Amino acid sequence: MTETATIAGALGSELSLEQLWMPFTANRAFKRAPRLLASASGMYYTSVDGRQILDGTAGLWCVNAGHCREPIVRAVQQAAATLDFAPGFQMGHPYSFALAERVSRMLPGDLDHVFFANSGSEAVDSALKIAMAYFQARGEPQRARFVGRLRGYHGVGFGGISVGGIETNRRAYAAQLLPQVDHLPHTHDLSRNAFCRGQPAHGAELADDLERIVQERGADTIAAVIVEPMAGSTGVLIPPQGYLTRLRALCDRYGILLIFDEVITGFGRLGKAFAADYFGVMPDLMTVAKGLTNAAVPMGAVFVTGTIYDTVVNSTPSGIELFHGYTYSGHPLAAAAGLATLELYETEGLFDRAAELAPYWEDALHSLRGLPRVIDIRNLGLVGGIELEPRAGAPGARAFDVFVDCFNRGALIRVTGDIIALSPPLIIERQQIDSLMETLTAAIGAAA
Ligand code: PLP
Repeated sequence: MTETATIAGALGSELSLEQLWMPFTANRAFKRAPRLLASASGMYYTSVDGRQILDGTAGLWCVNAGHCREPIVRAVQQAAATLDFAPGFQMGHPYSFALAERVSRMLPGDLDHVFFANSGSEAVDSALKIAMAYFQARGEPQRARFVGRLRGYHGVGFGGISVGGIETNRRAYAAQLLPQVDHLPHTHDLSRNAFCRGQPAHGAELADDLERIVQERGADTIAAVIVEPMAGSTGVLIPPQGYLTRLRALCDRYGILLIFDEVITGFGRLGKAFAADYFGVMPDLMTVAKGLTNAAVPMGAVFVTGTIYDTVVNSTPSGIELFHGYTYSGHPLAAAAGLATLELYETEGLFDRAAELAPYWEDALHSLRGLPRVIDIRNLGLVGGIELEPRAGAPGARAFDVFVDCFNRGALIRVTGDIIALSPPLIIERQQIDSLMETLTAAIGAAA
């Protein structure tokens, strides 16, 4: 049966919900009981029925500077009126060059070149292709394998779901995923690390599993390891102390490129520009999206070292060096949004603000310990994860009830399985943190 629903008010007219096939959504259930947001400002959304909704998730981990910030709005408006579009193939425009130059100034380690895409998924697939191109340019085309990690999320392109490790995202496409991919174990271990504050003490040795893959496949067949330095979408899995350093050392030992997928952790989420800065571990490639433009216009990017760029670009005597790109790579509106966003982060010191707020955030989160059915709480920077005991025979149902209840009580949270993931805009105030925790306390209690 087809579900049909109409709601009045949004965009000033009757609105049919039928035609839109919503992404990662239970379409039929949603259309029976929709949750619609009409506008946003600062820390709040306004729902179509006029309620203020405190944003506990920065949209989808992306609106780091808060909503509808005036400098970003103005920059996008100006770009739209000045240069709506310009081809990026064999042509260029100032906005994309300016953003590449601007963002490269804040990159950690040896990262200093930028390839633009339009989303995190595209950034990931671009990074995998660049890793392959790098080894081809070095005369090692057999280095084409990738290593991902269980419970990793790298978007929804065929490359991204192949290296990703979220079972539900892979199952339907399993017959056509990339053939040469292995996975490291995930690092989630409640038996040893439950309710830890910051990085868990146990689990660094899980990085050594790369040795097993190297023994099995041969180091000279592996192009790159890709991990989220802190896994977000799978439910806030924080890397154990020492884990990333160990992974970096193993990649170095075997000449394997290390890709950090910082689509969530990039641009201040952990209180530093990037997780690489936070952990003091430098990747060879980094993927970003979300916070790059404060999500005002979609954009993704791959950051690479000068060595990778030079190796690929100098490998052909003339002509196009990398047969890859998107019509909208470096789109003027996105690049303008990116420039204004980076300026805003800097002038308002938002990454430092996140770092300063992190201890308060940590205490507030851990004050929920002891609520019924809460089996773990974890935190890092301005990220929080609250894991609930699943209902018998209905995994995910308890957390989903909490999500809906929070929305009805005026707060937006995110859930994945039975894990609540929190990642507010970096402009959140202490009293808004308190209010978010009060709402969560009530909703978790009601779903117990
Ligand atoms: N990589 C990571 C680590 C992500 O968290 C996400 C999205 O949440 C993606 C890639 C995919 O980004 P997008 O949804 O913009 O394609």
